[in-house]
Amino acid sequence: MPDLNKRAWLTGKVAKAQSDYNVIRPPYSGNEADFIAKCTQCNACIDICPTKVIQIGNSGYPELNFQKAECEYCQKCVDVCQPSALSQLNPQTIQHQPLINSSCLTEQDIYCRSCAENCEPMAIQFTYKQSAIAKPKISLELCTSCGACAAPCPVDAIQFQPTQPEPLSTKRTVS
Ligand code: SF4
Ligand code: SF4
Ligand code: SF4
Repeated sequence: MPDLNKRAWLTGKVAKAQSDYNVIRPPYSGNEADFIAKCTQCNACIDICPTKVIQIGNSGYPELNFQKAECEYCQKCVDVCQPSALSQLNPQTIQHQPLINSSCLTEQDIYCRSCAENCEPMAIQFTYKQSAIAKPKISLELCTSCGACAAPCPVDAIQFQPTQPEPLSTKRTVS
């Protein structure tokens, strides 16, 4: 006989997680619904993370704050996650990608290379233009979604967006 209490509890957890679609989860978190179903909010990943990029989100689940730090893909969070909400069976990559918005200083013809100077895989490149300030462009093929470019930006111009399209059931309608 199905355990209706457990099912209702899990459904509630997943529904709450779906409202956090734009939240950046730690690496190796896999599918959002599975992550929420498995995570016990023990905070072991938060305590072990050497860069302190993981914090407790509004819903009580761990999430990454790239305005604070970066992920080094050290896997320490995976190693301490007892219920395997973070698991090496899931893809390593963080499921968000950086996007440079129009507040970038180069859009106002102000010289700045802070993001590129902090990007180890050299995924941010500047194309030289005669008589104009060069603008940054991110190569998503080289980008590892580590978040190291976000905090050094003096105007918070680097935002992260989900790599997967938003599930239909979580989309909000505008009246
Ligand atoms: S992989 Fe390492 S740096 Fe990245 S979130 Fe996990 S513990 Fe922190
Ligand atoms: S270690 Fe695992 S179960 Fe604990 S809070 Fe982090 S993701 Fe959740
Ligand atoms: S998120 Fe991508 S662009 Fe930003 S520092 Fe990391 S690898 Fe470079």
